[in-house]
Parts: sequence; C-alpha cells; structure tokens
Amino acid sequence: MTEDTKWNTRTKLVHSGTRRSQYGEVSEALFLTQGFVYETAEHAEARFIETGPDEYIYARYGNPTVRMFEERIAALEGTEDAFATASGMAAVNGALVSMLKAGDHVVSAKALFGSCLYILEEILTRYGVEVTFVDGTDLDQWRNAIRPDTKAVFFESLSNPTLEVIDIKAVADLAHAVGALVVVDNVFATPIFSNAVKLGADVVVYSATKHIDGQGRCLGGVILGSKQFIRKVAEPYLKHTGGALSPFNAWVMLKGMETLDLRCHAQADSALSISQALTGHDKLDRTIFPHLSDHPQYELAKDTMLKGGTVLSLVLKGGKDAAFRFLNALEIITISNNLGDAKSIATHPATTTHQRLTPEQREQLGIGDGLIRLSVGLEDTQDLIKDIQAGLDAV
Ligand SMILES: *Cc1c(COP(=O)(O)O)cnc(C)c1O
Repeated sequence: MTEDTKWNTRTKLVHSGTRRSQYGEVSEALFLTQGFVYETAEHAEARFIETGPDEYIYARYGNPTVRMFEERIAALEGTEDAFATASGMAAVNGALVSMLKAGDHVVSAKALFGSCLYILEEILTRYGVEVTFVDGTDLDQWRNAIRPDTKAVFFESLSNPTLEVIDIKAVADLAHAVGALVVVDNVFATPIFSNAVKLGADVVVYSATKHIDGQGRCLGGVILGSKQFIRKVAEPYLKHTGGALSPFNAWVMLKGMETLDLRCHAQADSALSISQALTGHDKLDRTIFPHLSDHPQYELAKDTMLKGGTVLSLVLKGGKDAAFRFLNALEIITISNNLGDAKSIATHPATTTHQRLTPEQREQLGIGDGLIRLSVGLEDTQDLIKDIQAGLDAV
C-alpha cells in the first residue's frame, strides 16, 4: 500500500491492492478457494503461529481476492487497513459488537437505516450496552449525551431517506474529548464525495452492495480503520463469527471499484440536475438534495462533500395516494429498495424500508407518506426528468 499513496483516486481504484499470481494475469484473479495448502507440517505450524502478509489459512480469515478488495478500498479511504464483510450489516454489526461490552455507553443518531437501528436499539441493549439516541444534526444533543464513560458514537453521515447531513468533525471533536471512538456509516455520502476519516472518523463502514458494486449484483461490506482496530479488535470477532465476504463477491466489488469514481460523478451530476429541474414543481412540497441551496445543512454539505450524492428525496403533496400514483406511472425508474445502482430506483420508505417504525417514529424522522426516495442511476438525465415529470402528471 505504501507505493500507491501518491496516486490520485482513479488510479487507486484501478490498481491499488492488485496481487498477481505466477501467470501474470491482467484482470484480478478470482481465488475461489476456502482453503490453502502447506508445503510441510512445519510450514503449517509456522503459519498458525504467525500469518505473514500474503499467507492464508482459511477463507473465513482471509483470501487473496478479498485482500485485494480490502487494500483497494483502504487506499481509497486513506486508512491503514480494512476488513471485508458479507454485507453492509455484517460491517456495522462487526464494527460495533467487536469493540463493545456490557456496561458500555454509546451515543447514536436516531435517523438510521432500519437494520442499523435494530442493532443499536435491540441487539446491543440486549447485551447490556446502554444506547442514547440524539437528533444527529443538533450538536447540543450530542454534547449533552456524550459522557466521560461513552465508548463510541455512531451515525450515518448522510441519513436515509431524509438526507440530513451530520457534522462529522464537530461530533468527532466532542467524542474524542472523552476518548470515544467515532464510527461512521458513510454509505450515502460515498467514499468518492466524503472523506470521513479526514474529518475525524476513527472507523468507517460501507455497504459495498450500494455504489461499490453499483450494478445490483452482490452483497458486501467493509470496515475501515487503523491497523490496531482492524487487526486487534474487528478481525478476532469477525473471523470467528463468520461474517467473511465471499471471494466471488470481492471480485465483483474489485471490478466495480474500477468505475466507482466515474459512476458516482455521473450519478451525482444527474441527481443535482434532476433536483434543480424539480424545485418548485406544483405537485411537490419539497425536493431534498444536500447540494440544493434550500437544504437546511447546505453550507455543511458544500464544505464536507465534493458533490451532493446520488440520492434525492421528493415530498409529494397528497400523501400515500399521490406517492403510489407517481410510482406506478414511472416507466424508466424502477420500484425497488436498493440504491447507488446504475438503474434509477424509486422507493416509498413509509410502506417498505421504514414500515417497521410506528407512525410517530416516522413522523419524528420526517418520513411522511408522501416521501419518495430516488436513487439516480446512469441513464440519460433528460430521460429521467421526463419520466419523473410524467409520474408527477399522473398524480
Ligand atoms: C444498505 C445499507 C446498509 C446495509 O447494507 P447491506 O449490504 O444491505 O447489508 C447499512 N447502512 C446504510 C446506510 C445502507 O444504505
């Protein structure tokens, strides 16, 4: 990893972490093997005592294709190390559970992806971890909730689906003052537009299922952090509990990374154009996009994110009925719940991803019945705008 720190993003995305076999293949090799052989019994013994940097024992612990993916994303994010996981949720769970024990205190933003909320609200508390939830955009709430014994803070830097921007640096300063670790789910902001580590995050997690694959094929995730955190805290937990990324999925993610920067920029440019085109539309109460000047954290979003991301949210007048008419009239944009995909996807969070919440909880989080989350893909921007306008005409 040392020789590529001078490379810029696109070069890292194509070359970092590459290991070649004795055949000198151009495209990264897919080592679809769970085990590895040893030349002698002595070699086996030695490897179990200390596993060298390019030595493997068992794919639950590590695999050459998975390692290429880990090194490539660590180079992109600028962290010392990474551990790849079977999904984004395995990464969130692995990062938090590996470092916490009964009696610890955690402060978390309350606007979270449903499964993240489940881990913090249901799982950690079941094992005796105390969790305090705050409005992530309100620094006073973070200040009041963080205590001398707080072990970690957790938040999504850009929340789903209301796209609130959390001030990573300000929260990190409060957390670091008491020695708490800052764990950031940076999926919506993407590793291309936001460098959470530079802003003060200690540990960053991604669902690689989203932009990193970006073509709707595989589940995957990754935890990024210092060598100490990844190898001494996360790895022992993950390698014994089975959350490893499959080599095949790692290979898909590696190929996805080659085009990650190009795709994210194209999708974000399109998302901004669409947001601007829809602003003030008479069927809409609001268009939410971090780089629209009426976004409540516009200045922060401009300061901390290179572009506004690839997702926007539309608040339709007329609630669920209007939202469903809109969705059912779309021709190009598909109804689904993934995001960051090459295909544009529309989601009605209130009846799908956030259905589990009570109406009061949804109201508190600003997830109304008229809210549509739109993940902008790689289609032609004008075609997408026409599709959305036709959808709104049907309302
Ligand atoms: C999708 C998502 C996850 C979970 O990732 P999976 O790969 O589906 O397990 C976690 N956090 C956020 C913000 C997500 O969007």
